[in-house]
Amino acid sequence: VTVAIAARNNNEYGVTIENLFSELGFKPGRRVFVKPNLCGREPVLPGENTSIEVMDALLSVLLLLGCEVTIGHGELLGSFDQQTPFSETLKASRFDKYLGMSGVRVLNLDELPRTVVKTAEMTFHLPLEFLKNQIDSYINLAKIKTHMETTVSLSLKNQMGLPSKADRVAMHKINLEMCIARLATLCRPDLSILEGCPAMEGDGPHHGSARNLNLIVAGDDMVELDSSVACLLGYEAEQIKHLLFSAELDVGKFIETETLEKLEEFKVVGFLHANKAFRFGRTVTAYPTYSCSRCICAVQHAGRSIRRHPLKHGRFLLKALLGTERTAVVFGRADKASIPIADENRRLICIGSCAKVYAESHGVDCLDKCPPGLDEALRYITK
Ligand code: SF4
Repeated sequence: VTVAIAARNNNEYGVTIENLFSELGFKPGRRVFVKPNLCGREPVLPGENTSIEVMDALLSVLLLLGCEVTIGHGELLGSFDQQTPFSETLKASRFDKYLGMSGVRVLNLDELPRTVVKTAEMTFHLPLEFLKNQIDSYINLAKIKTHMETTVSLSLKNQMGLPSKADRVAMHKINLEMCIARLATLCRPDLSILEGCPAMEGDGPHHGSARNLNLIVAGDDMVELDSSVACLLGYEAEQIKHLLFSAELDVGKFIETETLEKLEEFKVVGFLHANKAFRFGRTVTAYPTYSCSRCICAVQHAGRSIRRHPLKHGRFLLKALLGTERTAVVFGRADKASIPIADENRRLICIGSCAKVYAESHGVDCLDKCPPGLDEALRYITK
């Protein structure tokens, strides 16, 4: 058995995790590293970060087995006018309660020494000394989420917390989906666990809504695991680029049809997939095209500020609500296919250095900053 599913109609996550361990024949070593997903910023939405209940359950099982557990996560990307200290990331998801707990260590992965690894796409800076020599088992504890840019965020995407901060920015600039696949060839968990307690559907990973699937899925092959869950959520797994690239790089194999048929009872009906763009009013559409969280935060901040101060931004609001000309706000590594051609009459506002090539090819200016400041992006958009 390489993929095991449990927890349907069952809230006893500890029992579920024990069952998964035994079904998979997984025996953790003495020193276990757990990598959760804590990518949400205050206020964290339900379904955005790893469920504290599932983390509690996994910890209790590991501690019962006599393991020493390290929970490790990197710092969130920030810009000069917005930084999220690691302590705040922990607090926002209640992970600060593990600080000082007996048998548990909470680690800021960005403080670990790095090993330089050159690949065809980019040079990674990875905590390989830690992964190879300081732990015995690596558990990749990922969330079941949609993703507006990579379609889904499952076990392969969850590994993005391992490379250095600069690498995480570079991955977005180069080719995010290929870099996720390449990363999976360099860092391989002993076990990956996907939890949807709750999952995030709709515009994940940061703007979707929570949906409790009450589902925990585990496996030792990230491609098989992610493809099985993607199929259960109504996706065609082969259409998800980072899964396809990972399979091509021999990270793992897509779930076989025969195995998938046995999982039929776990199919999620009507799971909302992510849109490619946000709407603002009637005429403004924002396209996050392989953007990292820093440009997403900048554009999100602009949207929130405009709503909060309608008088100050009355001209923009009027155009957004009652205007006739369509406007596209583009951020990230946009390409030709990023914006629907049907939007021909649109005015373009390009934010961040990644969108510069796109802006030039359309003869418009770009806020050529990486990352753009929050207020700077607001001023640029409203101007
Ligand atoms: S320009 Fe924006 S999306 Fe591109 S790497 Fe910089 S902050 Fe991220």
